[in-house]
Amino acid sequence: MRTVDGLPTARGSASGPVFIYRGDCQVPVPEYVVEPGGEKDELMRLKRALGETRRDLENLIAVLRERSNGKDVDIFECHLMLLDDIVLVKETEDYILKDRLNAAAAVRRTADRARAQFGRMNDPYFRERVRDLDDVERRLLKVIAGIGSETLWDIKVPSIVIADDLTPSETVQLPAGYVLGFATNGGSTTSHVALIARAMGIPAVSGLGNITELVSPGQRVLLDGTAGRVTLNPDEATIGEFERQMARQREISAMEQSGGAAGELKDGGRVKLCANIHPGVPMDGLAEAGACGVGLYRSEYLWLNRALEPTEEEEFLAYREVARFMPKLGAGAGATIRLLDIGGDKIVRGISAKEPNPFLGNRSIRYLLSNPAVLRRQLKSILRASAFGRVRMMYPMVSCVEELDAAAAVLSEVKGELDGAGIAYDREIPVGAMIEVPSAAINAGAFARRVDFFSVGTNDLVQYVMAADRGNDAVSHLYQPANPAILTLIDNVIAAAKKEGIEVGVCGASAADPVLGVLWVAKGADTLSMSAPYIRSISKLFSRLSRSDLDEYAEYASGIDTDMPAKAVYGYLREWLSSRIPDFESLIA
Ligand code: PEP
Ligand code: MG
Repeated sequence: MRTVDGLPTARGSASGPVFIYRGDCQVPVPEYVVEPGGEKDELMRLKRALGETRRDLENLIAVLRERSNGKDVDIFECHLMLLDDIVLVKETEDYILKDRLNAAAAVRRTADRARAQFGRMNDPYFRERVRDLDDVERRLLKVIAGIGSETLWDIKVPSIVIADDLTPSETVQLPAGYVLGFATNGGSTTSHVALIARAMGIPAVSGLGNITELVSPGQRVLLDGTAGRVTLNPDEATIGEFERQMARQREISAMEQSGGAAGELKDGGRVKLCANIHPGVPMDGLAEAGACGVGLYRSEYLWLNRALEPTEEEEFLAYREVARFMPKLGAGAGATIRLLDIGGDKIVRGISAKEPNPFLGNRSIRYLLSNPAVLRRQLKSILRASAFGRVRMMYPMVSCVEELDAAAAVLSEVKGELDGAGIAYDREIPVGAMIEVPSAAINAGAFARRVDFFSVGTNDLVQYVMAADRGNDAVSHLYQPANPAILTLIDNVIAAAKKEGIEVGVCGASAADPVLGVLWVAKGADTLSMSAPYIRSISKLFSRLSRSDLDEYAEYASGIDTDMPAKAVYGYLREWLSSRIPDFESLIA
């Protein structure tokens, strides 16, 4: 038996067999000329790889048909067509027979040439095929390199997925019900992968170093996402105790889910607790989770894992579904749809440019303003959806007021078009800005004069203020939401919002942190938005406090010295909460 400690990424526990996923790992592609006569072996290698890849794709299509009503099947059917393309196969064979290239290099050469040809075409259909070509090439190269070409859909029994790291697009492919939890070598607690796991209620541990090297497929492991620990080769007694604890935890959560309204204070006051969701997360559980609305709808997930961009109609239908659902969360409940926030670690192949520093690149609102057709389509779809329920729209990653002004000009043109066409929409639709770039937090007053609400994205704000990548465990010690610099900036943002009379909320992962989430409200945040499974536990803390307690907490927090290290700040704040709430420690356990 052995335990490996990592970062507690999404809470909850799981016990089950290991599924090792090697995903998008870099496949080695050696290139060499084989000895005369060696061509036959290379041809054989290619044929075997083609056969194995075809079988994998056919299986995958069958699984998709069974598990997800055929969604995404067309993508993999297109991959099969590419794999069987006579011209491409013949070209690859020629590289082996005529140039005596090894099989992997021959596949790479064919793919490179086809990529260049597709990329030059004016027809967007062919340009999109480059992504499919990449996928088919990767599958073939993995089989040739003996790595296996499994995808996350190949999980046959409920398992704990162990991977080097996962991308957001891989994580949303996790087949519901088949992933008990996941554990990764890299990653961090605020990467998008972590946030998706939380929204899906899947326990996760990241930053485990070399866990992929320590396990074998099918081996039983215990995963504790709350403590950030994985136990390998557990003995029977440990398994028994772990599973008893899991059962107790399930009972507690079932009891929590049947509680009354969330966010009620001891004195009857109310804090708005909303849910962060993305397309693909079922909304059915949101009312039980206690959400009083959707505080952050990450629209960019509509763009992930697909060959073509969504059409206006697809966008509209997705947003309308959320808008129509809102009354189920109570009278007055609404959804805040964030515009396309791609870039950083949310790379959309074929759309995101290759940039040396993607977190500082042409992402989010910058991308939208430089691709006005995408911006207009999204604004139009959101406006159309606003006729079906309460909807707000929000711009991501705003860093200067010019961006807000430029977006406002496009918005008013799009409204004019809808008026001209007689299409209904909410004329008073509130427009907000994410505050997640230091320039916006520092100069918050100017931003507050231009929008109807703020939502502070602490995940990115901390990353940019501390210059510490939110997804890199090597700098996770510098990723400090409780750093005095962050607290000062948040004070500034809240003060600017109050001065201009606009609503301010926090939708980064710190909203679900028991110490910081309560602090943001004490400082004046009107709403907190978080992954739905976290709402009840934060709500329990608020139920132990009155508005005057919160004022006292804010007053106490004003005693934080800028000399204090983040850990000391956190400890100082926690001390107040545990002295004021007698069962604080057990509530957050
Ligand atoms: C944030 O940055 O805090 C945020 C909520 O947005 P995302 O995590 O999607 O970047
Ligand atoms: Mg962000």
